[in-house]
Amino acid sequence: MRGEAGGLRSVFARPVAVSAEGRDCAKPDYNLPPMSFDAEVIVAGAGPAGAAAARTLAAAGVDTLLVDRAAFPRNKPCGGGLTMRAMARFPWLAKAISDIDIHTVSKLHLEGPDGSVLKLEADEPVGILIRRVEFDHSLVKAALAAGARLRERFEITQASQTTAGITLQSRTGETLRAPVVVAADSVHSVIGKRLGVNAKWPAKSIAIDMMEETPHDTLRARHPDVVWIAYAYKGLDGYAYIFPKTRHVNVGIGCLLSHFKGEMPGRPYDMQVAFVQSLVDSGELEGRSDRDYFTPFLIPVGGPLAKSYQGRVLFVGDAGGFVNGFTAEGLYYAMISGELAGQAIVAAGGGLDAAGPCYQKAWKREIGAELRDSVLIQRYLFGSHDRVNRVVRGGREWPWLATAMADYVAGKRSYAALRRDVLLRSPGTAARLAWKALR
Ligand SMILES: Cc1cc2nc3c(=O)[nH]c(=O)nc-3n(C[C@H](O)[C@H](O)[C@H](O)COP(=O)(O)OP(=O)(O)OC[C@H]3O[C@@H](n4cnc5c(N)ncnc54)[C@H](O)[C@@H]3O)c2cc1C
Repeated sequence: MRGEAGGLRSVFARPVAVSAEGRDCAKPDYNLPPMSFDAEVIVAGAGPAGAAAARTLAAAGVDTLLVDRAAFPRNKPCGGGLTMRAMARFPWLAKAISDIDIHTVSKLHLEGPDGSVLKLEADEPVGILIRRVEFDHSLVKAALAAGARLRERFEITQASQTTAGITLQSRTGETLRAPVVVAADSVHSVIGKRLGVNAKWPAKSIAIDMMEETPHDTLRARHPDVVWIAYAYKGLDGYAYIFPKTRHVNVGIGCLLSHFKGEMPGRPYDMQVAFVQSLVDSGELEGRSDRDYFTPFLIPVGGPLAKSYQGRVLFVGDAGGFVNGFTAEGLYYAMISGELAGQAIVAAGGGLDAAGPCYQKAWKREIGAELRDSVLIQRYLFGSHDRVNRVVRGGREWPWLATAMADYVAGKRSYAALRRDVLLRSPGTAARLAWKALR
């Protein structure tokens, strides 16, 4: 049911409770031109970024419509690895996912391209492994419980923005309108394309992750308590991994698309079969690959968009490039960017034009440094794979680094503190990274 601009204005123009940080972003005297709207805010895409945004907005009393082309539960190709840092950052998350399968891990096997190995074992769990088909459904339910509405099977094919508001059009020609939109429509963001924000990620800023999530009766990890990662595996500008889960195992290879196109002969699934077989031969896996569960997919790994909003459209999650360029971890950043976008819209109150700049400031403050550094680290390590070997060996030789990393992943040490330690204790690496940053 469509609302009228007057009704919307009364909600957004009312004084809203904003944080001290948000207050300087608000300009409460904004006048909305007349237009009929379907919601005060439309969140386009109901993955972790969109669900976190919708939950935040709805909990603050904003009439929020969460829109997705899929019907939930739906799958999303993903390793489903989440650090304890994410659990600490979102105190409501443990309850929201309490009814899904969660596999907890505290051991890591990290391998360099020359075969050097670093084995880490923490006293407490450092991460959980979930299946996205279940996890995302739980997050959508959390958004609905907070008061958001859900529109499924609405595939956005067109988007336009005027001073009056934003119009999203579906494949069937139906339209939805709102004064503000959170674009959480993932790596191929149609909204980003249609608004001219991001026509296409450059090949160097995108990774292809070729992965299967296969049930245990076909394939299983021989060491189900260990996360196995090989960086620069077989000379790739990328990584290979085994993520054991409660009833499934995720096995995959990810690498920069530029590298994949230039240097990797063969079809992705042929590579996967060979990879799985090599892990069976080396005793890491038992069973066989199953093509039915193989779902290659892209990840943006070149850092966030320089400007993560356009007018009153705020880009979050993969649509905004919020992924760690070094680890390809995206869930944590998707949820943070979604939540910060929601908070910025609430903080903007009646001054909706302030939401974008407010959001940009907020994510730069919280995750800007680590996302920037993650891309530098990725380029530094892929610049020479021997650096990966040195890092793996360094992890064995410098116990302080292993402890600092484990504390960071567990959410006990901030990124700023980790960075300070690394800069103080390994000035050679720090200087090289700084030099790269200036180029
Ligand atoms: C193979 C692989 C393994 C990964 N492993 C990990 C991992 O272990 N840990 C980790 O943290 N990250 C991992 N990532 C990254 C992580 O999956 C993403 O960063 C994360 O899913 C981003 O969340 P999102 O909400 O932005 O987008 P998504 O989760 O992709 O959700 C976007 C939603 O938008 C909807 N949508 C898209 N287009 C439209 C449209 N036109 N109209 C309507 N709806 C639309 C989709 O249906 C979907 O529901 C991995 C990625 C890949 C590809």
